[in-house]
Amino acid sequence: MANAPECPVCGQQGVPILYGLPTRVAREAAAAGKVRLFGCVVPREPDQWTCAQSHTWRADDDDVLIAVIDAALRND
Ligand SMILES: [Zn+2]
Repeated sequence: MANAPECPVCGQQGVPILYGLPTRVAREAAAAGKVRLFGCVVPREPDQWTCAQSHTWRADDDDVLIAVIDAALRND
């Protein structure tokens, strides 16, 4: 996950947050630590990233978020 942003609190590499009912691929990615599943209840302004210490934050660049999620869910 080359482009994932660093946590603004602790500086660890971010992991994208996925909301909604997870697919099998999403569950496998979460088990591998590539994404974090936050369930079906989406807040009004959902955070986009989390870190190993469970800080959460929003980043400005949706393209990066989408690219990292795509890479995490790619089965290769
Ligand atoms: Zn952090």
